[in-house]
Amino acid sequence: MRRFLQDFTKNELEDLIKPKFRAKQIFSWLYNKYVTSYDDMRNIPKVLKEELSKKYSIEPLRILNVEESIDGSKKYLFELDDGNSVESVLLLMKEEEFHDDGTLKHHARYTVCISSQVGCKIGCSFCLTAKSGFIRNLSAGEIVEQVRLIKRDNGIASNRRLNIVYMGMGEPLDNLDEVAKSSIIFSDPDGMAISPNRQTISTSGLSSKIKKLGEKRLGVNLAISLHAVDDKLREELMPINRAYNIKSIIDAIREFPINTRKKVMFEYLVIKGVNDDLKSAKKLVSLLNGIRSKVNLIYFNPYQGSIYQRPEEKNMLNFQKYLISKGVLCTIRESKGLDISAACGQLRDKQKNS
Ligand code: SAH
Ligand code: SF4
Repeated sequence: MRRFLQDFTKNELEDLIKPKFRAKQIFSWLYNKYVTSYDDMRNIPKVLKEELSKKYSIEPLRILNVEESIDGSKKYLFELDDGNSVESVLLLMKEEEFHDDGTLKHHARYTVCISSQVGCKIGCSFCLTAKSGFIRNLSAGEIVEQVRLIKRDNGIASNRRLNIVYMGMGEPLDNLDEVAKSSIIFSDPDGMAISPNRQTISTSGLSSKIKKLGEKRLGVNLAISLHAVDDKLREELMPINRAYNIKSIIDAIREFPINTRKKVMFEYLVIKGVNDDLKSAKKLVSLLNGIRSKVNLIYFNPYQGSIYQRPEEKNMLNFQKYLISKGVLCTIRESKGLDISAACGQLRDKQKNS
């Protein structure tokens, strides 16, 4: 049973509400005007609002805490209806800029990093989210609401473009149906109108689900958390590799429908002394052979009690240089908002310990 109004796609709302055009109006109230109460939906008849409000809340999340970083990123901790909590991050990718005459050159560019589950089943050894195990899936509405509330809280107008990455807590492909539905809601032209081109689903590599995601033809981008180039090390870092090894992932990607202008992103978490050597870089190049890919090297972000360490910058740069010299597109991701407990799972952890 759906519990929140945000759990519905526009098509579903159109089946639920008569006359149909009310669905479009409700979408606009929710996703363009960011209302948080039925009362504020001014052109919707009172009887309809009363009927809907009896069944569906429009407040799936509550902001519990916000931490702002010196680089402009903001980390949100949300409380769910049942008292659980999840995190999202608003990342400032580029600050707004002005021409010399004071007119606007371009608006600030944002990416919102969202969670898809409370906790995670995958159990990666480097990940803080994994430590508290799996609690439950988020519903589509609970996923969508993270972006809606962050846009509202920051006064980001509905027509401003922003990117979405499913890289917060949880494994999106382990909650495929709700994640797919959230993607459809995000991209609705009467709602937030965030093109699937601007949405990236990141996965630890559930090969069979990559195939299922492809079959849904959502048009979203795919990111693979690879982190290791041989199965032995990958199993150590990511136990899921026993069920879905590197070859199965690469095979699944080869069949994934990718926009011809886009590339599959491979995330490679670089850990000091574990996977930061040039031999790994070399193997990575041969693994990616024939795939339209780009690599994102991520600095491991240590946390209290973590068994791994942040790599040295020198090794990071050498790794990148090698990939680029072999024609592989490669960027380095500085953990944004490092001073605000950057990698997802870390704000929630802090709250629990305080
Ligand atoms: N479960 C999905 C999506 C969420 S994880 C996946 O694994 O792809 C999002 C990203 O956070 C992953 O790429 C993961 O490697 C990264 N991450 C986890 N722990 C981290 C840490 N301590 N430092 C830096 N990145 C981390
Ligand atoms: Fe889950 Fe991703 Fe963390 Fe692995 S890295 S435990 S898949 S959230």
